[in-house]
Formats: sequence, structure tokens, C-alpha cells
Amino acid sequence: MNTVKCPTCKTQVAFGSPDFPFCSDRCRQIDLGNWATEQYRFSSPIIPTTGEEGAPLPPPDSDLED
Ligand SMILES: [Zn+2]
Repeated sequence: MNTVKCPTCKTQVAFGSPDFPFCSDRCRQIDLGNWATEQYRFSSPIIPTTGEEGAPLPPPDSDLED
């Protein structure tokens, strides 16, 4: 078996194809478009948590050294 299924249209694609593992550049663009859409949808709620190990805040009593 020297073929795989195109992720986009499930067509058999031979190893060595210029657009492998896609059957064509069109299917490659479609798949990348879907992937980008997924990334965009998941990227919004991801907010890095800061405060625990981020930039340490100076001690609150640092102004009382005088
Ligand atoms: Zn295809």
C-alpha cells in the first residue's frame, strides 16, 4: 500500500505526490483553511495566567524602608 487517503476528500493519494498527503493543492488549501479556522476559534479563550510565576511584584513594604 503506497497510498493514503486525502484528508480533505478521501481520495487515494500515492506517496511521492507533489501535494502529498493531499490529492491536490486545492485540497491542501481547504485543509489548511479548516485548521486555521479551528486555531482561530480556540485561540480566543486561551489567556496565559500570570501572577504566580510571572513577573514578581515588589514586596508591599518596600516603601517603608525609610
Ligand atoms: Zn483531495
